[in-house]
Amino acid sequence: MNNNCIFCRIIAGEIPAAKLYEDEDMIIIRDINPMAKVHLLLIPKEHYADIIEMTEAQSVTLARCLKKLSTLTDTLGLAEGFRLVSNKGQNGRQSVGHLHIHIIGGEKLSENMA
Ligand code: 5GP
Ligand code: ZN
Repeated sequence: MNNNCIFCRIIAGEIPAAKLYEDEDMIIIRDINPMAKVHLLLIPKEHYADIIEMTEAQSVTLARCLKKLSTLTDTLGLAEGFRLVSNKGQNGRQSVGHLHIHIIGGEKLSENMA
């Protein structure tokens, strides 16, 4: 756990969040500033900055998280489809340095991804 990391503190229960799912690998919460009708964050529990820093073992865990997500789409309001985004670095406008995947859906999204 990184005490300076807002997502580590959410995972530890120190900061409240709308937690929709949790297991030993990850949490799924509602983004505090939603960009679409459904805007969730899949956050692995282990702290690392992004996919560039990710180890082989962490990539296996992330794959398991994504597989699990595939079983949760109905309950998360994503049955009609969704978009996954992971921002990296300054150009990607990453604002929290703990790997997370945005899950955006609940409506027809814009074609513009930039
Ligand atoms: P990034 O900009 O790093 O790709 O995404 C960080 C996301 O975390 C943003 O969409 C932002 O709204 C969300 N966020 C930041 N702080 C909090 C918080 O305290 N709680 C929740 N639920 N989301 C947060
Ligand atoms: Zn963290």
